[in-house]
Amino acid sequence: MTTAQKETLGFQTEVKQMLHLMIHSLYSNKEIFLRELISNASDACDKLRFEALNQDGLLEGDSELKIRIEFDEAANTVTIADNGIGMTRDEVIANLGTIAKSGTAQFLKEMSGDDKKDANLIGQFGVGFYSSFIVAQKVEVTTRRAGDKDDQGVCWISEGEGDFTIEGVEKAPRGTRIVMHLKSDENEFANSARLRNLVKKYADHISVPVEMYKDAPLAEPGEEKEQPEQPELEAVNSAKALWTRGKTDITDEEYQEFYKHVSHDYEDALTWSHNKVEGKLDYTSLLYVPKRPPFDLWNREGSRGVKLYVQRVFIMDEAEQFLPPYLRFVKGVMDSNDLPLNVSREILQGNSSITSMRSALTKRILDMLKKLSRKDEEAYQTFWQGFGQVLKEGPADDFANKEKIAELFRFASTKGADDSQSVSLDAYIERCEESQDKIYYLTAENYLTASRSPHLEVFRKKGVEVLLLTDRVDEWMISHLSEFKGKTFEDVTKGELNLGDEADEKEVEEAEKQHADLIGRVKTALKDKVEDVRVSSRLTDSAACLVVGKEEMGMQMRRMLEAAGQALPDSKRVLEVNMDHPLIVKMDLQSDEARFEDMVELIYEQAQLAEGSQLEDPAGYVDRINKLLVNLLEA
Ligand code: ADP
Ligand code: MG
Repeated sequence: MTTAQKETLGFQTEVKQMLHLMIHSLYSNKEIFLRELISNASDACDKLRFEALNQDGLLEGDSELKIRIEFDEAANTVTIADNGIGMTRDEVIANLGTIAKSGTAQFLKEMSGDDKKDANLIGQFGVGFYSSFIVAQKVEVTTRRAGDKDDQGVCWISEGEGDFTIEGVEKAPRGTRIVMHLKSDENEFANSARLRNLVKKYADHISVPVEMYKDAPLAEPGEEKEQPEQPELEAVNSAKALWTRGKTDITDEEYQEFYKHVSHDYEDALTWSHNKVEGKLDYTSLLYVPKRPPFDLWNREGSRGVKLYVQRVFIMDEAEQFLPPYLRFVKGVMDSNDLPLNVSREILQGNSSITSMRSALTKRILDMLKKLSRKDEEAYQTFWQGFGQVLKEGPADDFANKEKIAELFRFASTKGADDSQSVSLDAYIERCEESQDKIYYLTAENYLTASRSPHLEVFRKKGVEVLLLTDRVDEWMISHLSEFKGKTFEDVTKGELNLGDEADEKEVEEAEKQHADLIGRVKTALKDKVEDVRVSSRLTDSAACLVVGKEEMGMQMRRMLEAAGQALPDSKRVLEVNMDHPLIVKMDLQSDEARFEDMVELIYEQAQLAEGSQLEDPAGYVDRINKLLVNLLEA
């Protein structure tokens, strides 16, 4: 088949779903199609400029890269053309017929059918080229790849339903021209003032000029309207890369629009930091924190990193070497004056000035987050909910900054009214007794289990705050953090508790002596199920709880590793018994040894249940309970 032949091809299933969703959920914000198409055209110019660094010929003698917007009121069309990199036939099919992003299928599954929620989700995905179908009933793309011959052009046409046609074009200029045949009720866009307005709003910050024909002067009444032969073109945007402008000249709206361009996000950013650095290193960075995690935050191949420019020339997207992995959610631009223009990913990897820039950017981001947390608690909570778990990778990743990172953490706590994670480590330290040299915490599967754990009883009684950690990564994270501002972390479910109260210690010692018999009986009954049995200083209300050795892995970590399929060494725990509990007091009087054993077993099992563990033999537990109930009812 020659490439000139016309072919009809079907969209990938995901594209069809996406188109359908987009048209319905973004209808109230349809003007964004212009932003998306200009953003693509600007990317195309960036890419050409970059490739032309090594291949002069690609510019074909036309090095003034620009975008042009035209409209035709009578035909109800809007056209966006660029003389950028263009696309080959294969690229057109891949880029405009499929969605290459990994995780797309999963993402689409999460769509609810509720327009409002879906609009938010779509925002995280990035809407892109397909947004043109929100307002167009037919879209026609003519394109030719820079460097290809004139007759290598391609024309792609689709009505945004199931398929598109593609055919060769005899004579096509370099770049891409997109003609949108607007739906009849969308003719508002085929209008000079409307388009100029949108360009100003969405594309002022783009470094490529966006041109439109000058409006014809209004004719005086009675005068013949004179049409100039060739209407003049003018740039509608200021065509200066946003980050090169002074901070004070840039409005928040402009920063937000630029964010959407670099991030492909559809929502505003939460905060940003714009810095020009001169001296040993010479660069400008503009970094943003998104409001919401992107759908591919946990995907190893997900997009991350900043857009890299060298002396204002675009070099690459997703230069991930500038950010540590635990800050992978940050988006933005890095424009360096030190790096060579021919810098590649390989060079970036081993370059020492990259290492310095990365550590400078890391500090900037940590400072920016700190500032946000001080300035706007609510916005910070939004950040924490979206990205807290990623940030928790920090202490393991970046030892040098671990305290700075830890200052940004927020947890639920026994002093909080609900499960909201709002207590910082600084706030914890501030309100604990000066003599307390530990930061107490407890890990559990969820807030309810954590907040009702028997291990907290004595802390409640004494008014000592305990942080309640319910993220799977928490125990692992704490193991890397190990201390904060001179205070060590202590898991309240581990080791012998020592709250530094001598009277308490004496009491436990006395009780150990006094109840040595009972403790011995319990130990015998539990045989090798536990490491030891001892009198508890932790409990006020519950009968018993289980404690691991100080140096041993906590339960949360065990569960995490088990879930990951790791074989773990057996670890026996210590059963701590509350000697004041009526059940224990009664048990002591029980002379029927079989019954005594049942009761001990039950107490042991209840201790497991209360901390959210699975019983080894749940049916046995039910049997034992029922036996007791029957006895009770018969009595
Ligand atoms: P994104 O911009 O996030 O990659 P889009 O849906 O906006 O997603 O565009 C898909 C792809 O189509 C782009 O990545 C690019 O390769 C290609 N493309 C779109 N518009 C143009 C254009 N004007 N010139 C060249 N390539 C383009
Ligand atoms: Mg795009």
